[in-house]
Amino acid sequence: MRVSPRRNPLPSPLSLMPDKTIFKKIIDREVPAKIVYEDDLCMAFEDIHPRAPTHLIVIPKKEIVSVDDVEPEDEALIGHLFTAMRKIAAQLSLSGGYRVITNCGRDAGQEVMHIHFHLLAGRKFTWPPG
Ligand code: 5GP
Repeated sequence: MRVSPRRNPLPSPLSLMPDKTIFKKIIDREVPAKIVYEDDLCMAFEDIHPRAPTHLIVIPKKEIVSVDDVEPEDEALIGHLFTAMRKIAAQLSLSGGYRVITNCGRDAGQEVMHIHFHLLAGRKFTWPPG
């Protein structure tokens, strides 16, 4: 029996997928980055536009959009990111201190919709931030 082609075929599931964020592309090794730390759950790499002598982006490999999207089941993962940041700070001898920032949403200036922490060091930081 011949099957006639559908007049209005459904779009393929791939065409319905939203574009990957730049950070997901870094996780998937589709975009290069200077990775300074990686484990099963997270990675840290140098920010492409550093705002301090040390400026790292620390991300979970799980795709979570922002702080606003963290669920109770993510609590251990978010804690893991902080343990990773402590290890990175020790590895880079950031003994003078460092700042950890996350921007959540438009008014905070979040550009990349994959939750991330900026780890900044190597200069004095002012308070309050701009
Ligand atoms: P947000 O404003 O979302 O908190 O910060 C996003 C950060 O990602 C910015 O500091 C920006 O410089 C950094 N960034 C954007 N695109 C890339 C990229 O392709 N590679 C790297 N390494 N960092 C990026």
